[in-house]
Amino acid sequence: MSTFQHLHLEIPRCEKPRVVVIGGGFAGVQLVKSLRKLPYQVVLLDRHNYHTFQPLLYQVATAGLEPDSIAGALRQLFEKHEDFYFRMARVTGIDLEKKCIKTLVGELDYDMLVIANGSKTNYFGDKKMYERTFPMKQVPQALDLRSHMLQNFEQTVMSPDPDEQDRLTNFVIVGGGPTGVEVAGALGELKKHVLPKDYPDIDFDIMKLHLVDGGPRLLAGMSQKSSDKAMEYLKEFGVDVRTDTRLADYDGKDVTLTDGTVIPAKTVIWAAGVTGNIIDGLPEGTVERGRILVNEFNQLKGYEDVYAIGDIAMMKTKDYPNGFPMVAPVAMQQAEYLGKNLKRKIKDKPFVPFKYKDKGSMATIGRNRAVVDLPKFHFGGFVAWLVWMFVHLMSIVGFRNRLVVLSNWVWNYMTYDRGTRLIIRTFLRNHKYKHGDTL
Ligand SMILES: Cc1cc2nc3c(=O)[nH]c(=O)nc-3n(C[C@H](O)[C@H](O)[C@H](O)COP(=O)(O)OP(=O)(O)OC[C@H]3O[C@@H](n4cnc5c(N)ncnc54)[C@H](O)[C@@H]3O)c2cc1C
Repeated sequence: MSTFQHLHLEIPRCEKPRVVVIGGGFAGVQLVKSLRKLPYQVVLLDRHNYHTFQPLLYQVATAGLEPDSIAGALRQLFEKHEDFYFRMARVTGIDLEKKCIKTLVGELDYDMLVIANGSKTNYFGDKKMYERTFPMKQVPQALDLRSHMLQNFEQTVMSPDPDEQDRLTNFVIVGGGPTGVEVAGALGELKKHVLPKDYPDIDFDIMKLHLVDGGPRLLAGMSQKSSDKAMEYLKEFGVDVRTDTRLADYDGKDVTLTDGTVIPAKTVIWAAGVTGNIIDGLPEGTVERGRILVNEFNQLKGYEDVYAIGDIAMMKTKDYPNGFPMVAPVAMQQAEYLGKNLKRKIKDKPFVPFKYKDKGSMATIGRNRAVVDLPKFHFGGFVAWLVWMFVHLMSIVGFRNRLVVLSNWVWNYMTYDRGTRLIIRTFLRNHKYKHGDTL
């Protein structure tokens, strides 16, 4: 029988130990699933009321998919769970001594705390870039970019000034990892097949796509073969790829690169990396490179009832001395391990250490082209593209979402069209969506 001993967030205290999970991302969702039927009260907190399938955000930004199809309502996901509570709340602080977390709407105490609040766009402290470029980490940010891009084309048809037309139709993408490469490919598709139909009065030769990366090659986390293939595919789309080049300055109108090139562009997409979403209250020495240091059981040092999993966790091992890659499979596998360990805890059994099973990585560059790295084998082209689509489709939360995404993809493929070229909410630079994404 539950009684309202604690009114914080209006969650009743019961005799079961309370596990508070911060973040309904890949790690948080998987953990809540793993805890089902265990004798815990589970409280999930997220600043949004939905889970975001981030790998397809770039398709929302480039008008390929509806935002709803890559998001899953958290309450709906767990509607059959007992002793489960969801609260839409942004966590702002943790008090490890009082075993309590602070949110914008109240405080909540815990018996066990799982920090799974992921990462945010890394601007490396550059305020100008934070204010002037487009990140791609949350659904509303992808929608901002979609609106901005379409607004620019609407303005281009009405602009008598060729320089202004140039500025409105140029895109600079910063970062040559999977996100940068995928967004460049999607913009290449739009330029080639979709936009000329909508804007017959624009000569699309003026639309230029530039991709810059500070490192020596694209897709640095993948094989050299995949990196070379990605470069080849992007060049086929006419993307100007510059490696060993960084963005030196951007005033909102002109981009200056470290090689001295000046590119007029009203759109700069920031895909240069992520860093952990650190919440206030963690003791000194527990955060390294923006991530929370944890042991092989995902425990915070000195606090055996506090865990961090997913992007936010920095677990150093012999094979991964700088922590595991910030990717969805790591987040989900750590959640599965923690779920099993919390089950073992009930029976006073010792915890089992985390072991990462790397199943490979992949990236797609427009239709029919992708690169896949398996642990012992790399391949590219059409088969890789089919594999990419299958894996992504099967990973999306919810059967309905899978159907919607599949039907969109089939439609886009057959018709060379995109169904979502709508400016639903006009983008205003001063209202850029940043919820929780601080510098
Ligand atoms: C554009 C993009 C493309 C990607 N593509 C791939 C890919 O192809 N393959 C792959 O494996 N990985 C990819 N990733 C990485 C992958 O999405 C992450 O590794 C994964 O999401 C990490 O899971 P997580 O649960 O740790 O964090 P997240 O999935 O980011 O979840 C964190 C959750 O915490 C919530 N949250 C954050 N702060 C607070 C707070 N203070 N209070 C309350 N709630 C909070 C957020 O709203 C979010 O729901 C991509 C990432 C991006 C941004």
